[in-house]
Amino acid sequence: MLKKVLIANRGEIAVRIIRACREMGIRTVAVYSEADVNSLHKELADESICVGPAPSNKSYLNVKAIIEATCLKGCDSIHPGYGFLSENSSFAKMCNEIGIKFIGPSSEMIELMGNKSKAKETMKNAGVPVVPGSDGIVDNVLEAVKVALKIGYPVILKASAGGGGKGIRVAYNEEELVKFYDIVKQEAKISFNDDSIYIEKFIENPRHIEIQVMADEYGNCVHLGERDCTIQRKNQKMLEETPSGIISEKLRQKMGKIAVNAVKQIGYSNVGTIEFLVDKNKDFYFMEMNTRVQVEHPITETITNIDIIKEQLKIASGKKMEYKQEDIKFIGHSLEARINAENPDKNFMPCPGEIKELHIPGGNGIRVDTAIYPGYKIPPTYDSMIAKIIVHGKDRKESISKMKSALGEFVIDGVNTNIDFLYKILENKNFINNNYDTSFISKEF
Ligand code: ADP
Ligand code: ADP
Ligand code: MG
Repeated sequence: MLKKVLIANRGEIAVRIIRACREMGIRTVAVYSEADVNSLHKELADESICVGPAPSNKSYLNVKAIIEATCLKGCDSIHPGYGFLSENSSFAKMCNEIGIKFIGPSSEMIELMGNKSKAKETMKNAGVPVVPGSDGIVDNVLEAVKVALKIGYPVILKASAGGGGKGIRVAYNEEELVKFYDIVKQEAKISFNDDSIYIEKFIENPRHIEIQVMADEYGNCVHLGERDCTIQRKNQKMLEETPSGIISEKLRQKMGKIAVNAVKQIGYSNVGTIEFLVDKNKDFYFMEMNTRVQVEHPITETITNIDIIKEQLKIASGKKMEYKQEDIKFIGHSLEARINAENPDKNFMPCPGEIKELHIPGGNGIRVDTAIYPGYKIPPTYDSMIAKIIVHGKDRKESISKMKSALGEFVIDGVNTNIDFLYKILENKNFINNNYDTSFISKEF
């Protein structure tokens, strides 16, 4: 078993990982930036070490400082969480070369899936239906026009190295395509230091349905059902649920089987998520694979009673998976709401600052993953997500009631949050009636 893990992350996910390690008797080392001297993850870990100044590229993305900290503290492994270095294949490679276990898939797998256009090709070859589009990267605007003519408008331009909903534009005609081509290329260069882009058919009014997979290092793999992450703003997830109201047991099994087969075929291990779009005819298309733990993993944990972080640690320790597909049971319904320090009235502008008063909701079936506390100062430097509420009810109706109750109880004084906005979603008739698609927020609010 792993003995001492360095957690190369911050915020709620660092706290989440520390707790899982503690339960398993694994020692933890937190890394923190100068902006995070008073952070909860630093306090909760057994040991901690500063890895640099506030900007991420000088601390949480500072490969040299993080590797040095790992060696200095005598850690045998690194958990990268999500974001930051979690999908950096050269970092994973470096870890393994110097005998530090990177808790995640192999660097080859991260590289294969990290290039979204290459990932589509790989998945297509593994028998997964993919969104129709360009064969790989589109090198120039003429080629883009040609592809769009073939697949038909609207089309979507996407950064091949993209993530976090950035580097994506929809074009409804040739004029827009020509205009957006350069814009997306520029955005991709700035955000991901890689300006390669690809084109897909824009699937209209889809649901975002993703399948959680889990594979050990001996070729055993199961899926843990789907998560419906259709409620998005600017291609970023806001509210997630499982099971999805549009997925029948038959479709769940079909998508799950295709996902598991693909994972086995490419030789992927550890946990991962295969993201699909599902259209009105219930046809589904692979979009991308995230080779890390996801923000919304807890809703799967509550309905399957499987601790995904602990499973990551066990798999990375070289343990054989104790589950077979028939052991995976789905009980009840779960919702997650992402609480961000932002102002919905000012175009969701981030709202860092000091938390003056705080009351965190609780109760039967209510879980809050967070790293905030009264008096905590949210730094302006990082992601604005400050908490996640996860509820588990016997059915969707009960989950919605629980979530409304929890949101109503949450008190965060000192900064603006999206709590009221989330409450309005839960009161929306179309949401309640399961009548929504990825355009829900832009249409209804
Ligand atoms: P999830 O599917 O887990 O919800 P998101 O796409 O919301 O993942 O991303 C999780 C976190 O990681 C967010 O903070 C997001 O900003 C960050 N992130 C994801 N992909 C990238 C990337 N390629 N580059 C930089 N940050 C990323
Ligand atoms: P990221 O890496 O930023 O998560 P994704 O490729 O997963 O990017 O896409 C993010 C979101 O953008 C999806 O959840 C979906 O809402 C929308 N999207 C992406 N591709 C398409 C498409 N071909 N048609 C319609 N919507 C899309
Ligand atoms: Mg995605």
